[in-house]
Amino acid sequence: RALVSLNGVSKRFASGTLALSAMTLDIREGEFVSLLGPSGCGKSTALRLVAGLGTPSAGTIDWPRTPHDAAGTPEREIGFVFQEPTLMPWATVFKNVWLPLRLKGLSQAAARDRVMEALAMVGLDRFAGAYPRELSGGMKMRVSIARALVTRPRLLLMDEPFAALDEITRIKLNDDLLRLWQGQKWTIVFVTHSVFESVYLSTRIVVMAARPGRVIEEVAVDAPYPRG
Ligand code: ADP
Ligand code: ADP
Repeated sequence: RALVSLNGVSKRFASGTLALSAMTLDIREGEFVSLLGPSGCGKSTALRLVAGLGTPSAGTIDWPRTPHDAAGTPEREIGFVFQEPTLMPWATVFKNVWLPLRLKGLSQAAARDRVMEALAMVGLDRFAGAYPRELSGGMKMRVSIARALVTRPRLLLMDEPFAALDEITRIKLNDDLLRLWQGQKWTIVFVTHSVFESVYLSTRIVVMAARPGRVIEEVAVDAPYPRG
C-alpha cells in the first residue's frame, strides 16, 4: 500500500492558472521518487499539496496508513527542504535545527541529542555553534536537510534543493543524500528539472509536462549500484 496517494489531483489558482491537472500517483514507503519536468509544470505545486500547503481544487490526497488525530487530521510527519536557504541568520546552526522540535515536548537533553544526531547525519556536528553566514552554500543546504530530518519524518519532500549550488557541491550532495537515504527508512519525493539528478538519485522518475501540469510518463530506474 501507498504511504501517500494523489488521486486525480488538480490545482487551479485564483489567477486562473491550471497548475496541475488530474495527477494520480502512489508514493510507496521507502521509494525515492523524482518529479522531473520543465519549469512551470506543477512540480512545486504537487509537492506543496502533499505537504498540506494548500488544498487541491479537485481530487484527494490520501494517507492510507497514517493514524488520524481526534479531529480526523492525518498525523503525518513530513520534512520539507526548499531551494532557497531559509535559515535564520541570527541563530546558530544548533538553534536553526532545533526549532522544529520546540513544540514536541521533548526534554532538553533529548532535544539536544536529536539535534546533534541530525547534524552528524549531514556531517556538520562540529558546526553546531556556527552562524549561517559562516557557512558555504552547500553547508547551509546540509543544515536545511538536518532541520528537515530532526523530527524523524517518514516522508522527506525536497523542492529543487541543489539547483542553486555549484556543480561540484551539487554532485557531493547528491552522493551524500543517496547514502543517507540508503541507510534510513525514509521515503523521498525530490523535485528537479535535471535529468541527471533524477536518474542518479531515484528509484522512480515521474515525468511531467506543462500547460496544464500533468504526468506524462513514469519510469522505474534500475540502478547499477545496490540500493537500500
Ligand atoms: P514548477 O515547480 O514545475 O516550476 P509550479 O508548481 O511552481 O511549477 O507552477 C506551476 C504553474 O502554476 C506555473 O504556471 C506557475 O506560474 C503557477 N503558479 C504556481 N504557484 C502559483 C500561485 N500561488 N498562484 C498562481 N499561480 C501559481
Ligand atoms: P519553482 O522554482 O519551484 O518552480 P517559482 O520560481 O516558479 O518556483 O515560484 C516561486 C514561488 O512563487 C512559489 O512558491 C510559487 O508558488 C509562487 N508562484 C509562482 N508563480 C506564481 C504566480 N504566477 N503567482 C503567484 N505566485 C506564484
